[in-house]
Amino acid sequence: MSAAPDRMHRPDNDLVDLVFDYMRERLQYDPVPLDHPGDGEHLRAQLAGLLNPDGNNPADVLKLYDHELSRAVISADSPRYLSFIPCAPTKAALLFDMVVSCASLQGISWLEAAGAIAAENQVLRLIADRAGLPGTAGGTFVSGGSAGNLSALVVARDTARRKLGVGPEARLRIAVADQVHSSVKNTFNIIGVEAFKVPTVDRRFTGEALRAALAADPNPETVIAVVGTAGTTNEGIVDDLQGLSEVTRERGLWFHVDGAYGGAGLFAPSVRARYNGIEHADSFVVDPHKWLFAPFDCAALIYRNPQLARAVHTQDASYLDVLHTEGDEWNPTDYAYHLTRRARGLPLWFSLAVHGTQAYTDAIETGLKLAQDTAQLIRETGHLELLFDPQLSAVCFRRTGWTNDDYYRWSQQLLADQIGFVTPTGWDGETVARFAFLHPGTTMEMVREILDTMA
Ligand SMILES: *Cc1c(COP(=O)(O)O)cnc(C)c1O
Repeated sequence: MSAAPDRMHRPDNDLVDLVFDYMRERLQYDPVPLDHPGDGEHLRAQLAGLLNPDGNNPADVLKLYDHELSRAVISADSPRYLSFIPCAPTKAALLFDMVVSCASLQGISWLEAAGAIAAENQVLRLIADRAGLPGTAGGTFVSGGSAGNLSALVVARDTARRKLGVGPEARLRIAVADQVHSSVKNTFNIIGVEAFKVPTVDRRFTGEALRAALAADPNPETVIAVVGTAGTTNEGIVDDLQGLSEVTRERGLWFHVDGAYGGAGLFAPSVRARYNGIEHADSFVVDPHKWLFAPFDCAALIYRNPQLARAVHTQDASYLDVLHTEGDEWNPTDYAYHLTRRARGLPLWFSLAVHGTQAYTDAIETGLKLAQDTAQLIRETGHLELLFDPQLSAVCFRRTGWTNDDYYRWSQQLLADQIGFVTPTGWDGETVARFAFLHPGTTMEMVREILDTMA
């Protein structure tokens, strides 16, 4: 063998400069361009032959990435990205994500990564305090709200099985409303529980409706948990957490709160009261990669009583015994279905430590205000109709007279012109327009520019 086998692992300052220079440039885009959808044939042609035995010049590969691949990725951190749920990481969080990568941090166990885990847990504690959860609450960072919902509801299921003294054959149900996130429905499929569907009142899941549905059901004892949403993804509606928590406490049900999108509102005084009742949650999920300005992929999963989660999620393998010694070591792997994990809470920790919580409050309040101001502008515009008063930062509205095709054509043109990325959504079977605000750099001028294209 002529070439040294460790040639990929040696320090390489030219490569460092090449990539750092690119990152410096990317971090200085102001504003970040939206960019475009991809054309599969073109992309395949650009990539052809790239993965070969001998490799390529790194500058050429980076240029291909910069000029071709990255332009076919719509930038979720553009202030004109107003679809789905955007992602607007702080510069501090983005930069620290590189540190996490460059240090190959293994986030599994206290034995391997106590320093990283102590910092992650400091952030979980901050979030738990905002929610009013007890000092014993704790959990871990997982890849997203979907992973958090799955991990939490497995604990709900197994805790109920133990309490009821039943096995996997028993029929169990979890109460949800229509607006519950699709990941919760997926979770039910995966873990073998059924949805106990409760109708909403003004699109909100209320304690009263839950109580009535349980009273009307012939087998209410098979309902073991309730999922409340703190900010529905499409409409930003916060369920009646207070009312739901009263029912879960009366009946001894597990109360899970999915705040993947809206949970960040706990940091915004103007809407904090909407979350009352969350302090009774048995498990709670919030995605920092949504409205807490962390890079993908980062979700905080917190349990009121982490021991219950440990009893379900701890992996039993002889080579892992060394991780589970006596003492108060915290092993993040024990609180979700994962084993190996990136210390993905650290970018948020660094940014919070650098900027302080008030900067987060200010940025979140900016998104809330954009939603209110946009709603007002829509109310004042003759050919536009606001569908509901926004509670958080999602705004749904109708352009009178438009068909499904009109919305889709408009949305594509808006992106082609790089004015905005605004995709249509569904509203009781009708196609309508929707903004999701989150980036504190979005301005009302941008919103006006977008709305003007609907005239
Ligand atoms: C986004 C979202 C999820 C899913 O989170 P991922 O991070 O995409 O896995 C779950 N629930 C709600 C309410 C959401 O908005």
